[in-house]
Amino acid sequence: MSDVLDLLRTNPALWVGVCVLFGLAIGSFLNVVVHRLPKMLERDWHAQCAELAGAPLPEQPVFNLARPRSRCPSCGAAIGALQNLPILSWLLLRGRCASCRAGISIRYPLVELATGAIAGFLAWHYGLGFVAVVAFGFCATMLALALIDFDTQLLPDSLTLPLVWAGLLVNLWGVFVPLHEAVVGAIAGYLSLWSVYWAFKLVTGKEGMGHGDFKLLAAIGAWLGWQALPLVILLSSLAGAVIGVALIAASKMGRSVPMPFGPYLVIAGVIALVWGEAIIAGYLQLLG
Ligand SMILES: [Zn+2]
Repeated sequence: MSDVLDLLRTNPALWVGVCVLFGLAIGSFLNVVVHRLPKMLERDWHAQCAELAGAPLPEQPVFNLARPRSRCPSCGAAIGALQNLPILSWLLLRGRCASCRAGISIRYPLVELATGAIAGFLAWHYGLGFVAVVAFGFCATMLALALIDFDTQLLPDSLTLPLVWAGLLVNLWGVFVPLHEAVVGAIAGYLSLWSVYWAFKLVTGKEGMGHGDFKLLAAIGAWLGWQALPLVILLSSLAGAVIGVALIAASKMGRSVPMPFGPYLVIAGVIALVWGEAIIAGYLQLLG
């Protein structure tokens, strides 16, 4: 074990390479999470409704992150281990199912590629050690949240809440910020969007964002501390304005179509994790 660590310490490129491979595999798993978690939640809700109504629980086959095995949504053919290699399988199959030749979305290899690239970047940025690993855990969970929110307008509690606890736990040792800044960050993150939500609702009678957004900003506060929150809100609004206007212009869709805020919070949170201090320092320098 210590031999392996020594080898990685003396070969930074090897460490980055190992992390890229690990990231590709995690990206493949994220595709499963993003695809299945909303369906698992929906099944849960149906079961709870049936239980409350006193109806007999419908018999349902097992469906979780591990089972059943992945299948082609078009023909139902099981996807073997060889067809499940990140990126490579998609390229070898030329983006088509091996059995029925139905197209496989390019999003799957892109998510794998992005996760591998993020892992490699964090390994290079933080160097060998625990910080790179936990930073990757944060970014990978954030990526899954962004994609699920984009698809379904949901930010599942089963991801946001553990992310809050994980941030507090990591900062128990002051990995990114001292613990008291993390605790205040989690509370302030939640309360700031909670207040915006209620102000907006009282004034307009509409719900401008979901409760998941409060929990997501609480998680970002727990990881990055309260000082990062103004920057995160600024960056996410900026990202939302730029990308939102581009999307509206591209698709000519109405402005009333609900647009999830989660993906923008995710982009801002990840930027603030890696470059937050540099951005704030540069800004303060500009002010003199
Ligand atoms: Zn097929």
